[in-house]
Amino acid sequence: MPNDVVTMDKIVSLCKRRGFIFPASEIYGGIANTYDYGHYGVLLKQNVVAQWWKAMIGDRDDIVALDSAIIQHPKTWEASGHLAGFTDPLVDCRTCKQRFRADHLAELECGRRPSKHPGEDAQCDLTESREFNLMFETTIGPVKEAGATVYLRPETAQGIFLDFKQVLQFARRKPPFGIAQVGKSFRNEITPSRFVFRTLEFEQMEMEFFVPPDEAPKWYAHWLEERLDWYVRLGIDPERLRLRAHDPDELSHYSSGTSDVEYRFPFGWSELEGVANRGDFDLRAHAEHSGEKLEYVDPQGGERYIPHVIEPAAGVARSLLAFLCDGYDEDEIGGEPRTVLRLHPALAPVKVAVLPLLRKDGHPERARAVYEGLRKTLAAEYDEGGAIGRRYRRQDEIGTPFAVTIDHQTLEDATVTLRDRDTLEQERVSVDGLARLLQDRLAVD
Ligand code: ATP
Repeated sequence: MPNDVVTMDKIVSLCKRRGFIFPASEIYGGIANTYDYGHYGVLLKQNVVAQWWKAMIGDRDDIVALDSAIIQHPKTWEASGHLAGFTDPLVDCRTCKQRFRADHLAELECGRRPSKHPGEDAQCDLTESREFNLMFETTIGPVKEAGATVYLRPETAQGIFLDFKQVLQFARRKPPFGIAQVGKSFRNEITPSRFVFRTLEFEQMEMEFFVPPDEAPKWYAHWLEERLDWYVRLGIDPERLRLRAHDPDELSHYSSGTSDVEYRFPFGWSELEGVANRGDFDLRAHAEHSGEKLEYVDPQGGERYIPHVIEPAAGVARSLLAFLCDGYDEDEIGGEPRTVLRLHPALAPVKVAVLPLLRKDGHPERARAVYEGLRKTLAAEYDEGGAIGRRYRRQDEIGTPFAVTIDHQTLEDATVTLRDRDTLEQERVSVDGLARLLQDRLAVD
């Protein structure tokens, strides 16, 4: 079903209003394509990442974790092809002094008003397009000129290939097995971002799955299905998800097959994650450049081969944006408009809000005691400020699935009102067993 009520303006404004995500360095006027995450944004991000680790490590036993360095030996990027080929075609306008992606001109606005696409106005004076490397460069050593040039990693995957041999030994695995990593990557993106969709620094969730060469097609199909299913399990409407296979001319130099998992954002279908069959390109390239043998040798039979690699590579912020867009809804309660984030309970930053009806008559004390009990096992929040309706609305906007209200009856019979974010049903339940009841209702799967 199309989600007709959501727009990017509404998402950006909700994120700012509730402190999920806001522009970075705002007191200095901001910095392009860079955002900060506030309290609820951090919690939501942690939950997205936790669900990814659960799918990679918690639910299966053929994948191990890794956390490799952001700054690697510069030869890494020579071997991987990033130094030579990780580029975007750019043009400059001599009139407005702005720089544009040559392949995105039809979507971009000219620097001059009234706005047209770059190159369309008579005054536009575009240069020839030049290839511009997306890697951020920096220097190790106190003197820039004498130091060694290094790069901030543009993807986490290469660190996994560099450590393939180490992991093979300490993890005592044989193909098929995977190495998973979550961490920041950096790209010098000049296209104006649609909120956090494309930023200069971003977290990736990448997994390299090493397989015997003849099993690569089978595992490619497996990971396509698995990754699509992950988003559905976490509540995304399957009608707003699709797999799109890359055309042969779109394929990266290393890939013999890539499909993107795409989501229908308010701005159109766009990539959430890529699943690629990378063949043996990376291990072979690093073996050649480093002189190390990067292969699997069967200790018994002596069988040896360079494993092929299937890579699902996702972005934390893009998934998070899809979860926000998909969960965004507006309805009415008693004639009053309400904005609600129908986030999957596993992703919701706060699982239960504890609210005293009044700020007197012993309600806050009793509510605090209930809250202290719940927070031991659940992400809970206590809120006693303002009218109860406003407090419900606030929790709806941050996607809290349940609210527990303490009133005069609680003091008499130790029951509370349990309100469901989605059905808006309110039921009277006992404080005893409340934590267990909530855990059951919040359980994933
Ligand atoms: P795009 O074509 O949109 O630039 P890509 O195909 O270059 O993306 P990959 O190199 O396949 O992206 O990276 C894997 C994932 O990392 C992407 O699917 C996306 O979720 C995330 N990602 C890549 N670049 C960015 C960025 N600049 N900002 C936020 N997330 C990103």
